[in-house]
Amino acid sequence: MQDLTHYMNGAHVAGTSGRFADVFNPATGEVQARVPLANAAEMDQAVQFAAAAQPKWAAVNPQRRARVMMKFVELLHRDMDKLAEALSREHGKTLPDAAGDVQRGLEVVEYCIGAPQLLKGEFTDGAGPGIDMYSMRQALGVCAGITPFNFPAMIPMWMFAPAIACGNAFILKPSERDPSVPLMLAELMEEAGLPKGILQVVNGDKEAVDAIIDHDVIQSIGFVGSTPIAEYIYGRGCSQGKRVQCFGGAKNHMIIMPDADMDQAADALIGAGYGAAGERCMAISVAVPVGEETADKLIEKLKPRIDALKVGPYTGGNDVDYGPVVTAAAKANILKMVESGIAQGAELVVDGRDFSLQGYEEGFFVGPHLFDRVTTDMDIYQKEIFGPVLSVVRAQDYEEALALAMDHEMGNGTAIYTRDGDAARDFANRVNVGMIGINVPIPVPLAYHTFGGWKKSVFGDLNQHGPDAFKFYTRTKTVTSRWPSGIKDGAALNFKPMD
Ligand code: NAD
Repeated sequence: MQDLTHYMNGAHVAGTSGRFADVFNPATGEVQARVPLANAAEMDQAVQFAAAAQPKWAAVNPQRRARVMMKFVELLHRDMDKLAEALSREHGKTLPDAAGDVQRGLEVVEYCIGAPQLLKGEFTDGAGPGIDMYSMRQALGVCAGITPFNFPAMIPMWMFAPAIACGNAFILKPSERDPSVPLMLAELMEEAGLPKGILQVVNGDKEAVDAIIDHDVIQSIGFVGSTPIAEYIYGRGCSQGKRVQCFGGAKNHMIIMPDADMDQAADALIGAGYGAAGERCMAISVAVPVGEETADKLIEKLKPRIDALKVGPYTGGNDVDYGPVVTAAAKANILKMVESGIAQGAELVVDGRDFSLQGYEEGFFVGPHLFDRVTTDMDIYQKEIFGPVLSVVRAQDYEEALALAMDHEMGNGTAIYTRDGDAARDFANRVNVGMIGINVPIPVPLAYHTFGGWKKSVFGDLNQHGPDAFKFYTRTKTVTSRWPSGIKDGAALNFKPMD
């Protein structure tokens, strides 16, 4: 079995803490590697390397830094298949989905090629007599990021690309479930011309995270993961004076109005509810049809589509719709939630509990589930399940549907399916959620906009990627300068008047 490493100061480094976590192939259930779990001393070593390398990197002009990003994009394209395969092997998602994971990260790297433009400061000429004023954006120093298992390529790139383009050094603590792709990304950044020590990968769990929070030299922390951990890191990180942004969990509602195209809505729910086995923070986990007739029609459209879903390993060919979930513990938790839904009175319309795949009996596969007549007091409504389980909550009218999305404590994404522009506009304006889809089920903003939820889905002020990332990874310095004019009548500096 392979022992994975950390990546520090340009080299793969074996763990020294003596602690490891198993990395599974979720399709077979086999342990395929062990990942070292760093302690505070190992984290400190990475911070020392980063702090030594960062000032020189910050002094490299932004255009040259951007060229590293350009080359990195080229290398991501070159290695796309290799990255996707490594990602699927540890995460379980299908190969096209894994390539999409890399692609959505790559698009943020492309945005960061605009660093010279994005880092331009502001200037006021003649703010007073002989006075000019200008603001510049300077790098923070050493930054750190803690990422979840579900997008092991995209989310690390969302963090390290802008941080590094701004002139920072970055320490990535990826998920211990699927650490191989982050290690590959660090190697590729160096192949693209990044100096040693500017991007390091330190693997670990809570101990490594706490070492990040407690380290004086680390200036900022980016986190993406579940809400309780987001809240913990935000609170503890801020109290240490760090700049912190934490993105948490989700419970995304999709409202289906009576005038919606029902086939489109059902297709959208299949992709957004069951794609990637429901392990997306932008997955739709609650469908809210408006009116009993809409609900009945929706269920009728969903059932055959769900029955036709093909669940299988990433090696199973292009017609596999989704793969296993990430761990046996995740599978057990999803099935426990399904049992609680039944016990609390929801109607299980599609039951995936007995799903099993010949030849992959030990894999962490979960069949698709559909619940109808879910109510807001049930655990399956209140909690994030992060699996292929869709709940239908019937609303009697639009206001009731809107109130459901508004009253839920999570506010990452939401969608409305309708042909009525008035309803769509009203929904987008009033709903207290960060990312809205109108006849779009997974409204993930593109790289040049920003990504972030509201309510318990986020802790902090600035969003991920887009212009916010360049604000998060820099601080503003404003200079007021006065140069009293030496140009006086008769002074030697005077121009000779032209005849
Ligand atoms: P997680 O919270 O278990 O882990 C995220 C990271 O935190 C990992 O690197 C992990 O090692 C670390 N961690 C775990 N327990 C910790 C602890 N007690 N103390 C300190 N650090 C700890 O999340 P996950 O299971 O990897 O990812 C799934 C979650 O991420 C879901 O809730 C999903 O909604 C959320 N997510 C949110 C977004 C977003 O942008 N809002 C995007 C992707 C995923």
